[in-house]
Amino acid sequence: MGKIKETEVTCKACGAVSYYGKQDAIQNLGKQMQNVGKDLTCCGCCSVLPNKKTVDLSKCPQCGSRAITKTTIEHEV
Ligand SMILES: [Zn+2]
Repeated sequence: MGKIKETEVTCKACGAVSYYGKQDAIQNLGKQMQNVGKDLTCCGCCSVLPNKKTVDLSKCPQCGSRAITKTTIEHEV
């Protein structure tokens, strides 16, 4: 038994509703930090590699609008 916290993101532009678990947010943060490190130490050869797609919690994944509302919800497990 336990609880899982999720972030519910509702887009005001297109009405899409997305859910992000706590794990997603942590992974997203880690990827962003890795990208920053890559930029700082880039030797030129790694710039040809495509950046991994990261989840941007500050905008709608459907239409890219930043007109979103975030709500934290809890699930009983
Ligand atoms: Zn949208």
